[in-house]
Amino acid sequence: MAIERIIDAGIHDDDIDEKRIDVSLRPKSFNEYIGQDRLKNNLKLAIDAAKKRNEPIDHVLLYGPPGLGKTTMATVIANEMGANIRVTAGPTIERAGDLASILTNLADGDILFIDEIHRLGRTVEEVLYSAMEDFKLDIMIGKGPAARSVRLDLPRFTVIGATTRTGALTAPLRDRFGIIHRLEFYTPNEVSRIIERASNILDSKIDPKAAAILSTRARLTPRIANRLLKRVRDYADVNGDGIIDVPTTNSALALLEIDELGLDPGDRNLLTSIIDNYGSNPVGLNTIAALTGDEATTIEDFYEPYLLQIGFIERTPRGRRVTAKAFKHIGRQFEGNKN
Ligand code: ADP
Repeated sequence: MAIERIIDAGIHDDDIDEKRIDVSLRPKSFNEYIGQDRLKNNLKLAIDAAKKRNEPIDHVLLYGPPGLGKTTMATVIANEMGANIRVTAGPTIERAGDLASILTNLADGDILFIDEIHRLGRTVEEVLYSAMEDFKLDIMIGKGPAARSVRLDLPRFTVIGATTRTGALTAPLRDRFGIIHRLEFYTPNEVSRIIERASNILDSKIDPKAAAILSTRARLTPRIANRLLKRVRDYADVNGDGIIDVPTTNSALALLEIDELGLDPGDRNLLTSIIDNYGSNPVGLNTIAALTGDEATTIEDFYEPYLLQIGFIERTPRGRRVTAKAFKHIGRQFEGNKN
């Protein structure tokens, strides 16, 4: 995409303080991590049990749309376990040797966080199977007739995998995880609390009413909430006295062209393109991608989860269909489902 969308949940340059430890907005403990109560309760239990047995926690797979707090939860688990965490991502582990060197550098009890785990290559994935299951590393030494396989012992470690799509994970890999959890979208109330917490850390003043407005525009996603907060804070600093009140928030959001449901011009373009060409009939993902000029995976990861969540599109066996609710929001006449 040529233009960076403020409301996409992927990581942007201005999210960079996520990576700085001192001013990080990332919660560090279960207490600071707002929402996802079911996930937290399950993990707390698993952590308490593991600690009691003096063992590392079972491998954990977290899935759900980007920006909902998977990486954050991995660091919280590490903190709560008192474990070191090594962070990596599927696409950066290109060869089996890359994984072998990561694994052999781990210590007992360490956590290996693999983001976008569905993007691991097949040969790398196969090395990971026995590493996760038996804490053994099978490597080939040499080439041709002289090649031989060597089995090394690995420390007892924990893999925390994150993925936007469990469907893209192979069954053998998925089976290696003892704890599998989906992260849910947050409620507006939880997003409000996340915004107020973040503005505290950023040392900016926000009217709770302004936080409530932002919470309905952030696509129920903490990463977007934090990003909107920063943009509105900029606006308040430049055009006012730095205090984030209701008028400032509304003006900043109008400037960003984010409507009252958190949709931006990209979402509205997607919906109107489908409506103009297909009405309320089902349409395939690749066709939608061709209509908007986005990658199919961008539609699947960034646009679709929220539009599904608010009931603007629905999935049918024959493709995605725009709902009456979305027609109304866009200001188009709904002509009913033809099939
Ligand atoms: P993911 O890995 O799912 O893409 P992240 O864990 O990177 O998402 O979360 C994005 C940002 O949102 C984090 O930097 C953090 O500041 C914020 N965040 C995520 N989850 C929460 C939460 N439950 N409470 C407060 N802030 C959160």
